[in-house]
Amino acid sequence: MGQYVAPIRDMQFVLHEFLKVEDELKALPDYSEVDADIINQVLEEGGKFTAGVLFPLNHSGDREGCKHDAATHTVTTPKGFKEAYKQYVEGGWAALACDPEYGGQGLPVVLNNSFYEMLNSANQAWTMYPGLSHGAYECLKEHGTDEQKKTYLPKLVSGEWTGTMCLTEPHCGTDLGMLRSKAIPQDDGSWKITGNKIFISAGEHDMSENILHLVLARVPDAPEGSKGISLFLVPKYLPKEDGSVGERNPITCGAIEEKMGIHGNSTCQMNLDGAKGWIIGQPNKGLNAMFVFMNAARLGVGMQSLGLTEVAYQNAVIYAKDRIQMRSLTGPKNPEQPADPIIVHADVRRMLLTGRAYAEGARAFTSYVALQIDRELHHPDEDVRKEAADEVALLTPIVKAFITDNAWIATSEAMQVFGGHGYIAEWGMEQYVRDARINLIYEGTNTIQSLDLLGRKILGDNGAKLRKFGEKIKSFVEENGLDENLSEFITPLGELGDKVTKLTMEIGMKAFQNADEVGAAAVPYLRVVGHLVYSYFFAQMAKIALEKQDSSDTFYKAKLATARFYFARLQPETATLIRQARSGSANLMALDADLF
Ligand SMILES: Cc1cc2nc3c(=O)[nH]c(=O)nc-3n(C[C@H](O)[C@H](O)[C@H](O)COP(=O)(O)OP(=O)(O)OC[C@H]3O[C@@H](n4cnc5c(N)ncnc54)[C@H](O)[C@@H]3O)c2cc1C
Repeated sequence: MGQYVAPIRDMQFVLHEFLKVEDELKALPDYSEVDADIINQVLEEGGKFTAGVLFPLNHSGDREGCKHDAATHTVTTPKGFKEAYKQYVEGGWAALACDPEYGGQGLPVVLNNSFYEMLNSANQAWTMYPGLSHGAYECLKEHGTDEQKKTYLPKLVSGEWTGTMCLTEPHCGTDLGMLRSKAIPQDDGSWKITGNKIFISAGEHDMSENILHLVLARVPDAPEGSKGISLFLVPKYLPKEDGSVGERNPITCGAIEEKMGIHGNSTCQMNLDGAKGWIIGQPNKGLNAMFVFMNAARLGVGMQSLGLTEVAYQNAVIYAKDRIQMRSLTGPKNPEQPADPIIVHADVRRMLLTGRAYAEGARAFTSYVALQIDRELHHPDEDVRKEAADEVALLTPIVKAFITDNAWIATSEAMQVFGGHGYIAEWGMEQYVRDARINLIYEGTNTIQSLDLLGRKILGDNGAKLRKFGEKIKSFVEENGLDENLSEFITPLGELGDKVTKLTMEIGMKAFQNADEVGAAAVPYLRVVGHLVYSYFFAQMAKIALEKQDSSDTFYKAKLATARFYFARLQPETATLIRQARSGSANLMALDADLF
């Protein structure tokens, strides 16, 4: 069913030539030993594992789905998932970017990021089982007690146990302030937790020995709303002193959801019937602690969509070279056959290049953000750590929303390349579209990401974080503005930067009069800023490619062509988006609700 080859050459370009990660990592004492050889070896081995072990289970996993047994509350994952997970654990993949203190390999996030792209290209549904564990690891590492870290982190790092995030309840998804699950303190320092959680990814499965649920609930007398939420660690099996699994905890899966895509991943209704748990961090400060998990997961969702964009693009290219239909408008290109391969047609190329540009843009963008996370966590200079943290905070909602929106477009275009053969299940293309759709919804819908970007991250700090990032763009434009060879990239980048500054000020002013202006502008605004970020990265990549375009390596010619396509065909949508963002709230709010 199709094919997947990890795009190692482009990953190497991004890591070695664009980001120069070896030099960057030398400034971080924990990673000073990580050199190009280690990076390339992980990419090669990661490519083999994901393409050889996980990709063959993607389509079959989708067809088969997960099965729930109501009598035993168990979930069986599709054939082969469990065995693949065993290989993943034995290969030490779960431990790649984890702290050696807990058994991790201590490699940087920026490298793990490339591996996550591969995992998601090969099999998004499967990847969600270990993917959530990493968020749980980050959260416990930052907010857990020493005892909790000692008991749980080595198990998460080895992959023997997996993690979940249990936030959503039937009556509350976006508005977690309304959640009702309750936690009652016990004499032994533990808590008894009761409630119903829905839509819990990987809430129950047969791939690991134990599952650690990170559950949001309210303690007695908690303030109303989001200020009264606490976070608890609730294991499926209570761990014994020696670290082995003990008594079954009453947190069980009542049902799994029928859904549009990611069928290989169990989406569970979880019932907590007085389950035993331990508080993580302080009472009523649970959302703060959970934000560590949520931010990791938001970046993870961006990676899911990058993975899908890449694999859908690869398969569309193979098909477009093979499928013959009609003649090229400029005369036969394949005269010995009755028709030309469809890749000769301009619009088929537009669809392919859309996927290619969105994959390459997202790869550069997410790798950049991952490197900033490494700097945030490991740079010896506090000011550098703070600056990196601010950038990660600013860019996280863009990673989540812009990449997932683009993947929805790109997977759909890739399916379109197949004509009717894309719509039927046989070629696997419709699965990518179905799988891609959830990424716009969970981990905070893309609307919520847009509100977070514009309302909290930008207007909330008077544009300080955006200005700081904008200064980087400005200096790049100033340094390269006189280079005629680069003007096709620098001019639209500089112009868009100016437009974003004006637009932000305009919305900020309007928001003083009417808060609905923020909600009305947020979604197109995020897309405009997403394009500013991509324009900046494509211009930098084009600069490198221009310098090397005469080399025998045709990679650089292709990189340039993709950057040109991006600026000519994708970035110009900002003109429309800016008009939409400026159009104000009146056109949305004028209609009375009962007239809809
Ligand atoms: C397959 C799947 C897996 C999931 N996995 C998990 C998981 O592992 N753990 C977990 O806890 N949850 C999980 N979820 C839940 C998911 O995070 C929520 O569905 C999501 O956050 C949206 O919440 P909701 O469905 O209640 O929609 P609602 O909150 O009811 O929102 C409905 C619509 O209103 C919009 N809206 C809401 N508030 C505003 C506002 N202020 N301004 C503008 N628009 C607004 C939303 O954007 C959305 O379009 C999963 C869901 C699915 C379908």
